[in-house]
Amino acid sequence: MGLRHTESGRPLPLPNPTTQPFFDAAREHRLALQRCPRDGFFYYPRSRCPHCLGDDWAWETCSGEGEVHSFTIDRVGHVPALREYAPFAIAIVELANGPRITARLVDVSVDDVAIGMPVEPAFEDVDGITLVHFRPRA
Ligand SMILES: [Zn+2]
Repeated sequence: MGLRHTESGRPLPLPNPTTQPFFDAAREHRLALQRCPRDGFFYYPRSRCPHCLGDDWAWETCSGEGEVHSFTIDRVGHVPALREYAPFAIAIVELANGPRITARLVDVSVDDVAIGMPVEPAFEDVDGITLVHFRPRA
């Protein structure tokens, strides 16, 4: 996936034809993932199922409910344009329907992040694109 940068230097994804449906759904604050009829959901977006290499998958909207599988804390702001958000947690979220998604955790203190914490998607509209983060699930 390509990147572009805002005027402040914040890196943002640059959708391509393969990833565009993911970002179209995100713009509507939906999490859409590809689902293979044999192997189920997979992520990240790609042209073929990573298990059977089939191309007969379809996009489906998911609840996005999952839990924190693993995480790390950026206390420095390694990307200068993200320094204002530090410290923040970057997690590998395991969705209830299978795939794992790496994303920033929002609406939570880094001291409260824990493995197994229930999370749901949180959408951020920024500079013409919508990013998918995760936040604690009530
Ligand atoms: Zn498959």
